[in-house]
Amino acid sequence: MSKKHRVFSGSRPSGRLNVGNYLGAIKGYISLQNNPEYDCIYSVVDLHGITTPFDPKKYPEMVRGIILDYLGAGVDPKKCHLMVQSEVPEHVELSYLLGTIFPVSRLEDLPTYKEKKAQNPNYVNMGLLYYPVLMAADILLYKADTVPVGKDQLPHIEITREFARRFNRMFGETFPEPQALLMEGAYVPSLKGEGKMSKSIPGSYILLTDDLQMIRKRLAAAPTDMGKGKKVPETGGVANLLTLVKLFEGDGVYEEYAEQYLHEGIRYDRLKDNLAVAIYKELAPIQERRRYYEENYSLVEEILEEGKEYCSKIARETMTEVKTKMGLL
Ligand code: ATP
Ligand code: MG
Repeated sequence: MSKKHRVFSGSRPSGRLNVGNYLGAIKGYISLQNNPEYDCIYSVVDLHGITTPFDPKKYPEMVRGIILDYLGAGVDPKKCHLMVQSEVPEHVELSYLLGTIFPVSRLEDLPTYKEKKAQNPNYVNMGLLYYPVLMAADILLYKADTVPVGKDQLPHIEITREFARRFNRMFGETFPEPQALLMEGAYVPSLKGEGKMSKSIPGSYILLTDDLQMIRKRLAAAPTDMGKGKKVPETGGVANLLTLVKLFEGDGVYEEYAEQYLHEGIRYDRLKDNLAVAIYKELAPIQERRRYYEENYSLVEEILEEGKEYCSKIARETMTEVKTKMGLL
């Protein structure tokens, strides 16, 4: 590799990308692809997506949907590589090998595992527990040192670093310890007033493909209060709305609303309307670019083919090194 750093990150095809994924992760993808020192690989992690309920008939369309969302959002295939995780089987192969050097109890303790268990109590499978092992493999397979992600993924990055340390200690220096790259929108809250925005939780999100009317409708459902009080709320529906104001309209507008809350009161209908317009302004060019790729899908197929080949080559090299170091023939 001629570049100094390597980047890997991905999204599950569990729905369309939302503004949380965009501000928390995709903006990081874009800033890194524009830095010539970084060799970037961005993935649709379809093997992670099947750890929670999914429809196999719709799944290929979901995978394509994420790729289109990436391209629409400004991920530039001339500056990075786009790939689908299951097309490079070495991800699974490395994850098995890594799984043999890690205690189960540490995996059971991870917050994301507990959250997904609570979200789908009848779908607690081995893959779900194995999620961080596969994620460590995704990153280490390419010896990536930089991972643009949202705050929710920090425990997984920490685990990945631990995997790298353990492997290096047991079998010799092989993997760098990757660092997370967090953006300003590293934690975009849910519209439901609780938790983070997630593409698999209906009612929590605004999608990158939503039109103005839909954004208005989704914001209308977000919980609010009387509009005034002695202290600006730090958690719950109003706090979450104000965070979105800050992210899309800036600190100045946020301060104005905070002032209003303590004095004359906020008119939420106006706040939501202005916020909807600000969000749509950012999304409109994304939607236009997405449509271009959707109408020229053969371009996308070429992009994915390039990504698969590029990644397979690196993956094979890493696997040869790893297997040799582990004493496998
Ligand atoms: P799911 O509910 O299916 O897990 P998700 O919205 O959490 O969906 P992921 O595919 O798990 O999406 O994550 C894609 C990227 O988006 C990751 O880097 C993740 O950290 C980031 N991300 C997810 N949700 C948020 C959020 N609310 N704010 C900021 N970043 C986020
Ligand atoms: Mg997630």
